[in-house]
Amino acid sequence: MPMENAVNASTAGSSEQIVVAGAGYAGLHVALRLAAKLRSRPVAELILVDRHNYHQVITELPRVAGGTRAADAVRIPLQDMLGERVRFVQTEISGFDLTGRRVLTGAGPIGWRRLVLALGSRPNDFAIPGLAQRVLSLYSADDAERVWAAVNKALDDAAAATDPERQRRLATVVVGGGGATGVELAGELAEILPEVASSHGLAPDRPAVQLVEAGPAILAGSSPQLIDKAARILSDLGVQVRTNAMVAAATEEGFRLKDGQLVEGGVFVWAGGVKAPELVADSGLPTGHNGRVKVDRYLRVLDRPEIYAAGDLASVTDPRNGHVLPPLAQVALEQGETVARNLDAELEGKPLEAFTFHDKGFVVSVGTRRGVADIAGITSGGRLAHLLKDAIEWEYRQSVRHLRGWDPVAV
Ligand SMILES: Cc1cc2nc3c(=O)[nH]c(=O)nc-3n(C[C@H](O)[C@H](O)[C@H](O)COP(=O)(O)OP(=O)(O)OC[C@H]3O[C@@H](n4cnc5c(N)ncnc54)[C@H](O)[C@@H]3O)c2cc1C
Repeated sequence: MPMENAVNASTAGSSEQIVVAGAGYAGLHVALRLAAKLRSRPVAELILVDRHNYHQVITELPRVAGGTRAADAVRIPLQDMLGERVRFVQTEISGFDLTGRRVLTGAGPIGWRRLVLALGSRPNDFAIPGLAQRVLSLYSADDAERVWAAVNKALDDAAAATDPERQRRLATVVVGGGGATGVELAGELAEILPEVASSHGLAPDRPAVQLVEAGPAILAGSSPQLIDKAARILSDLGVQVRTNAMVAAATEEGFRLKDGQLVEGGVFVWAGGVKAPELVADSGLPTGHNGRVKVDRYLRVLDRPEIYAAGDLASVTDPRNGHVLPPLAQVALEQGETVARNLDAELEGKPLEAFTFHDKGFVVSVGTRRGVADIAGITSGGRLAHLLKDAIEWEYRQSVRHLRGWDPVAV
């Protein structure tokens, strides 16, 4: 597979050039599935663009941040996944020339006949003062490595301190946002920190984890049973959960809550939700809540039928309940499949397929051994749910390999 750092700046593209922007859950799956379908049509050129030459298994980041998984284990080299049918360009995308139908990149403009926007999302700081400057986020393998390094430094600092109060404060990790990411990170750290503390010369009961959530409950939108089970596991792990605790500012002392209380700690991580990347929000394309791009039922951008959008940056309403689908890998993968099918249908002159989300359920790990799951209306909590999460991640890695196998030129 050609891995390119530069692309011919004047590339106007072949008459059927399809450009996929982003090799995350949605974009990689568009590329892999379409490559398999295009094998009989060499005229259509498929280009995948990403700033990294690896795909990140983001759902496993809490484990990297908790030191139980190596960062490189969640960076899967694209070279291992893409076949000859996909031309990969590693470069930063800086904007879009919608009139000229070109993606603007560090390697020059890339022309498209069809464009797939799949650039994911970025942490939403809700314009909270000080947050972007003072708080770590968890959205890439690099971020996760930074969290793990910060935790270790905080434990070193705590071990060097003599005052027990100060020790306790330095060894406290504060996680802002009680959604799935915040719960997974808090659980992972709470389970692992006592052991890690000992290796830093600290008493195992010195570290603490606090989870701060603005709303009335963690895992908002989940069933009360699931929330209850997750809260019990977190409590068992010693995580202090504060609900109805809206962060008003991130200061040098810690999180200042709306009610004036100060949440102190040695490490602060923000997991308070996501919004569309700036270059998408500023692109001139029709956007909705959190800058996500509005699409029609075939996942084509409204009034721009030559552009598809999939994954976190797409604002897709579930016609069954009128709610916008959440930013989840599961949703991104299904949308990637629909986009690949529709691009293929266009080339074949066949009718497009409307997107329908098939919800497979919701699984969250809480700590290194337990988890919670809501599947087909049944809630479970404990070891089984954690095994389920492991199985989903294993299956994901297998499916990527399987898809590569579909491309005969690749093997
Ligand atoms: C810590 C964490 C845990 C999660 N756990 C789960 C889970 O258990 N289950 C679940 O369903 N969902 C989970 N999610 C959500 C899930 O990861 C996202 O919904 C999913 O990654 C969205 O896929 P995507 O393709 O839209 O974006 P991404 O997977 O983020 O991919 C976007 C791609 O675009 C590239 N890119 C972005 N901007 C540029 C640019 N300017 N130039 C070049 N390349 C660019 C990026 O490098 C990346 O490869 C989790 C999210 C986080 C943060």
